[in-house]
Formats: sequence, structure tokens, C-alpha cells
Amino acid sequence: MKRYLPDEQAMADFGVQLAQAVDSGGVIYLLGDLGMGKTTLSRGILRGCGHAGSVKSPTYTLVEPYDTPAGLVYHFDLYRLADPEELEYLGARDYFTDDALCLVEWPEKGEGMLPRPDLEIRLALSGLGRELTLAAHTPMGQRIIDKLNK
Ligand code: ADP
Ligand code: MG
Repeated sequence: MKRYLPDEQAMADFGVQLAQAVDSGGVIYLLGDLGMGKTTLSRGILRGCGHAGSVKSPTYTLVEPYDTPAGLVYHFDLYRLADPEELEYLGARDYFTDDALCLVEWPEKGEGMLPRPDLEIRLALSGLGRELTLAAHTPMGQRIIDKLNK
């Protein structure tokens, strides 16, 4: 599934729709270069989960937890992870529970130490906006895509 999002507001709004298409929990990989809108999309998803406060980019903390009305959300940014093994020391395993929604920026940096995603979202430049490509890896991920296409 592909979706063209012309600006930052459209990206945030799509995040809200995405959050509403998620039943409970799951793992979403956000792939794309610096500046492609991964954090913007994550903010929208958190907003869609009912989180009203601010959303910090977890570039330095690697993960930020949010206790939202829709359930627990963990927002990862693994850009600064030097070695996937570091995830072990961070206790990352404890974050990937069935009922938590895990958003992972730069999952490539955690290769081998992360659970497989339900949904993979690639973000790329397209004109002045961004083109998103969504791919499901589990039935749960497919259900999310089906709902977004309704
Ligand atoms: P990343 O987390 O991938 O590094 P950010 O979410 O921090 O990227 O966004 C980088 C910039 O891209 C921000 O200035 C944001 O306003 C802009 N941006 C986000 N989505 C879009 C879009 N769909 N079209 C144009 N600009 C966007
Ligand atoms: Mg980011």
C-alpha cells in the first residue's frame, strides 16, 4: 500500500488514522533516511492513541515510553545504537510485549535483536512531500492496512 503525504500536517493526520486502525499492540518499523518524517509520523500515531502531551524525539534516550488512553506505546529511535547487542542491556525485550505498541525508527541498527514487525513503513521523498509504502508482515499488520484502505 502506498500513500502520498504532501506536508507535515498530512503526515501527522495519517498517523492518527493509523493509530485508529491498530487494535492493540504490535510492532511497526519506520524506515527512511534522516528527515523523512519518521518522528512526525510517530507524533501523529501517539496523538491518535490519545496522548495529549509533547513527544520528544528519543534520539538520545533510544526509547520513550507513553502511557496513553489506548495503551502503552514505546517510541524507539535506534539511530545512535552502536551495536544491536546494546538492546539487551537496555532491557528492550521487556518492551516488546503483546499489548504494547512499539514504534521503531532505525530498526536496521537493531538487526537480529528486534522482533519482526507487524507492519513496515518506508518513508521517501516525493516532490515536496513524502511517499509512504506500507507492507504487512503478519495478519495483524494486514488488518491495519485493510482498515486504512476502507
Ligand atoms: P525523521 O524522524 O525521519 O528524521 P522528522 O519527523 O524529524 O524526520 O521530520 C523532518 C522534517 O520533515 C520536519 O521538518 C517535518 O516537518 C518534515 N516533514 C514531515 N512529514 C512531511 C511531509 N509529508 N511532507 C513534507 N515535509 C514533511
Ligand atoms: Mg526521527
